[in-house]
Amino acid sequence: MQAVRKTGRHYAKFIAPTEKRLHPTRNCRVCTIPAKRKPGEKKMYLHRAETRFECRACGGIALCIEPCFELYHEFEDYKRKIKTFLNLHNRDAES
Ligand SMILES: [Zn+2]
Ligand SMILES: [Zn+2]
Repeated sequence: MQAVRKTGRHYAKFIAPTEKRLHPTRNCRVCTIPAKRKPGEKKMYLHRAETRFECRACGGIALCIEPCFELYHEFEDYKRKIKTFLNLHNRDAES
């Protein structure tokens, strides 16, 4: 799965509209970072971004154009990279 990312054609595409939503958005796979929580606690995020774009070559993974699209495809440790980018390194995040 990981190795497949560097082959094939990866383009950012708008997430296809649905009957209910003309411009659907989803949480970005890279920069949406859940905070640690105890059982029963509501889900919280250290950082969260919604995007209108996805990579269809990756099976419809939602990604921000900048910088997440590139990070996701270029780096195995994209989660670490985005935390550095967002300055979240010392925060209490789920891995
Ligand atoms: Zn993102
Ligand atoms: Zn892709």
